[in-house]
Amino acid sequence: MPLYVRQLKLGPMENFVYLVGAPEARETAIIDAAWDVEGALQAAEEDGRTVTHALFSHHHFDHVNGLPEILARGGIRPLVHAADLPHLAPEVQRSVTPFSAGDSVEVGPLRIRAFHTPGHTPGSTCYEADDALFGGDTVFVGACGRCDLAGGDPEQMFESLKRVSQLPGETRLYPGHDYGDVPVSSIAREREKNPYFQKLSSLTDFLGYRMRPRR
Ligand SMILES: [Zn+2]
Repeated sequence: MPLYVRQLKLGPMENFVYLVGAPEARETAIIDAAWDVEGALQAAEEDGRTVTHALFSHHHFDHVNGLPEILARGGIRPLVHAADLPHLAPEVQRSVTPFSAGDSVEVGPLRIRAFHTPGHTPGSTCYEADDALFGGDTVFVGACGRCDLAGGDPEQMFESLKRVSQLPGETRLYPGHDYGDVPVSSIAREREKNPYFQKLSSLTDFLGYRMRPRR
């Protein structure tokens, strides 16, 4: 049975919000709860599922603006990488569970692993579940996240993308924004088409390469 994944495109910045869980289970994680929490939770309910965890790829507003509503509803456990926790609004920090690289969370029978990929922000994290990778603002279809905002680091992005590019080719890539020619890609497809993936043999080449900046 394939993984349960529902991709929702929400907000003015073409964010992708994801519902993820084991097939035939109720427990579901929402990744980057933002813009329309009500709508996303309703979508989960339509699919016979209950959102139990809220995982955040990083602290930027367009990915976390649903956090207050998640907390207000109760019953949903929010998690963010420890390095991005201090960048959340002070009043919500206490209610969010910090994790470290390689930690995993059990969402019903599904294990979701935190794949720490700093570069866009210090705590930027991709989530791995089964054969899927949720890329946040680290890796987009045909691009990568920008590194020129506060906390960004192009050398770290280089190292992070290198590790992402070494995942099995059949890994499905679910990006954090709809910026590419397709909404869902794979690591193999990105190796072939993503210009940043083709600059990973040399840090100098990578740092010298600039495309249209992405969020
Ligand atoms: Zn971002």
